[in-house]
Amino acid sequence: MDARILVIEDEPDLARLAGMYLEREGMTCALAPSAEDALVRLASERFDLVILDINLPGMDGFEFLRRLRRDDRVPVVVVSAREADEDVVLGLGLGADEFIVKPVAPRVLAARVQALLRRLREGSTARRLLRFGDFELDPEACVLTRGGRRVGLSGKEVDILVFLASAGGRPSTPKEIYEKVWGQVYGDLSIVGVYIQRLRRKVEEDPAAPRFLETVYGKGYRFNPGELKRAGPWD
Ligand code: CA
Repeated sequence: MDARILVIEDEPDLARLAGMYLEREGMTCALAPSAEDALVRLASERFDLVILDINLPGMDGFEFLRRLRRDDRVPVVVVSAREADEDVVLGLGLGADEFIVKPVAPRVLAARVQALLRRLREGSTARRLLRFGDFELDPEACVLTRGGRRVGLSGKEVDILVFLASAGGRPSTPKEIYEKVWGQVYGDLSIVGVYIQRLRRKVEEDPAAPRFLETVYGKGYRFNPGELKRAGPWD
């Protein structure tokens, strides 16, 4: 199965072994020896799944999950030597997708990762990526990448982008955006414009002359994914 996996594990032998078995199943693996390293990688690369050890030097797996879940919904499989950790992970609602108790045979780990990925892919919606320019937006995972590198967006910025992109070319008023993204009927609608400006600075070549996030006067904002450049007799 084609998937990019990040293995966070401080014991090099375990990490290598897990990586070997996952790659044998057709997955691509990256190894992070600490939670700090993993956060750096996750900020700039896209992974389909994370395997997380709890007992790590420095930041532990619990704290890692807490930080990760502020703005990332990448699936996480927790692997821990202590069964009691399961209570903490699940009890605190830290957002792990699966919990596996160590020791676990690498072959079994790989099989469970595959099963989870299959469930996630077949589940709710097939992963639908939206491409515009050299950007790729994954609305499910709330991740925007440009040429494979992650673009840092806040949760609201992603929500606005996904909302506008799913409007099918129809302009949305600031009120509609506000109600959808902020989940409130009343409030200061000018905040929407502030967020649109921020988004434009991140995705537009010239934020003053936006190509993707258009202003439709009197109507609101519209997402225009652009068209593929076609060679024509006029080129
Ligand atoms: Ca460990």
